[in-house]
Amino acid sequence: TVESKYELTEKTLFASFYKTRENYAHKGNFGHALIIAGSYGKMGAAVLSTKACLRSGAGLVTAHVPGKGVNIIQTSAPEAMCQTDPDGEMITTIQYPLKSYSAIGIGPGTGTHPSTQKLLQHIFNSYSQPLVLDADALNILSENKPWLNLLPENSIITPHPKEFSRLFGEQSNDFERIETALEQASHLKIIIILKGHRTFIATPAGKGYFNTTGNAGMATGGSGDVLTGLITGLLAQGYTAAEAAIMGVYLHGLAGDKAAAVYGMEAMIAGDLVKKLRFPAFE
Ligand code: AMP
Ligand code: MG
Repeated sequence: TVESKYELTEKTLFASFYKTRENYAHKGNFGHALIIAGSYGKMGAAVLSTKACLRSGAGLVTAHVPGKGVNIIQTSAPEAMCQTDPDGEMITTIQYPLKSYSAIGIGPGTGTHPSTQKLLQHIFNSYSQPLVLDADALNILSENKPWLNLLPENSIITPHPKEFSRLFGEQSNDFERIETALEQASHLKIIIILKGHRTFIATPAGKGYFNTTGNAGMATGGSGDVLTGLITGLLAQGYTAAEAAIMGVYLHGLAGDKAAAVYGMEAMIAGDLVKKLRFPAFE
């Protein structure tokens, strides 16, 4: 049989790698995720990604946020720890060794200030495990394209079509975008999650996955931030980058479908995706 280059993300796909929890498990088994997110006026992005990361099953979650954001994180996500940036309103410095985290997600609501750009460059140069990059982290990459070559192998980027074209140029249709995503994923040795109605996941091995879950109710501010937190938390637990991407995108869409069933597509908001995250037993 000829193996297709494309697959669909279906429940059966997860059976081979979904990890069931052992009875004697403790939080040390499920990693420590770091979410670097938020800036003054965009703390909601940090809250949504932090909460989704907690609901991914990560053992510990730390949010690194601008100094003034501490109360926001600690009251809205008390399960998470909070590291405050020396700057009150944006992200400029990480005070703790990066290697103490099993996964790092960066970008929701951070803005693109030069100090934030410098910190990202530092992280790209000093962290060797896959990173999850979204939103303003992608906009920073677009302004510094050579940095794409600094990304640790198997890092995951999650652009929507606008972020994708800022990074990789304009495409005239979805087919071209998909081909470009596959080319860039194998060239840069990263995973590209091209978000949209049928989110497409391109792996460095040249495989592409079309997601089967999700709906237009997810076209609302904050939806993408939830995906970033979820995937970062899956990575922290030891799923490979491809597994975390595929399972994260599928479960994110499933949460969207559950939210739409309760609220309808208009009334659902990104926070509902966090509450509707479910891990079906993949058997
Ligand atoms: P962002 O634009 O970064 O907030 O990300 C939006 C998220 O919602 C992505 O995961 C998209 O795949 C999802 N989404 C947005 N619009 C739709 C749609 N019409 N159908 C399905 N999923 C969508
Ligand atoms: Mg986004």
